[in-house]
Amino acid sequence: MSDRLYDTLNWQIGDVSITRMVEVVIKTPISTLFPSENPDELKPYHDWLKPNFIVDGDNILISIHAFLINAGGKKIIVDTCAGNGKKLPLFDEWTNLDTPFLENMSKLGFAPDSIDLVMCTHLHFDHVGWNTHKVNGEWVPTFPNARYLFNETEWDYWKDHEDPYESHALEHALQPIFDAKLVQLIGPNHRVNDEISLIPTPGHTPGHASVLIQSKGEEAVITGDMFHHPLQMAKPGWIDMADMDTDVAEQTRIKFMQRFGDTSSTVLGTHFATPTAGKIVSDGDGYRFES
Ligand SMILES: [Zn+2]
Repeated sequence: MSDRLYDTLNWQIGDVSITRMVEVVIKTPISTLFPSENPDELKPYHDWLKPNFIVDGDNILISIHAFLINAGGKKIIVDTCAGNGKKLPLFDEWTNLDTPFLENMSKLGFAPDSIDLVMCTHLHFDHVGWNTHKVNGEWVPTFPNARYLFNETEWDYWKDHEDPYESHALEHALQPIFDAKLVQLIGPNHRVNDEISLIPTPGHTPGHASVLIQSKGEEAVITGDMFHHPLQMAKPGWIDMADMDTDVAEQTRIKFMQRFGDTSSTVLGTHFATPTAGKIVSDGDGYRFES
């Protein structure tokens, strides 16, 4: 796949810098995520979905990346991707990964031991993977000097449920963080500092949250998986096989677009391929993503 899908991208929101660091990009038929929907219904939107987000006929790109944030001297990683050496479901591309993820963080000025905060929009395996890494056969925290912020509603659910994909995130990537006493359980509207806060965006998972960045009159929002793909701006009601509560997920997408649509806010898609960032703009009865 082309290099531009893996490029490091940067955005400046007031005093806050945000860097996208890609782990892996997956290309898959639309029907993988939306098995009950008809891809032909997207044709009216191909003018803005192609060529960045829909490619080679009816295939979508899904980018697995972390956002590295520097805000007021605090270094934050939002979503820690899939991780190396794991057997993960659905796609061959992220099984047994062997990427220089931690070396790449260091090169970008985010050495793992310099991270102050780890934020996870939700606790699915492709958002918590590098919470830990394997040392001498044991899963230990990758970011030993960080507080890990887990949404309490999210943890309440996942602590008793192995995810349906049997990724073993609970034992590999969550429990070791509790054992090391690095977790801070937080509410859905948690505020980290003047510039960084959470907004609840449930439906994909029970305690899913998006990350709001506000500085000097500028604003950006990291979606998490309340959008998997920009096509959901045209089709917020399409049933996404990975959403746990499809009705709530649809309502969340609509409310999110009403809140951020036709504003100057930069929307950073957690799985949106390059260019990843854009604005939500009204389009007829709905919305489109203008990147
Ligand atoms: Zn995801």
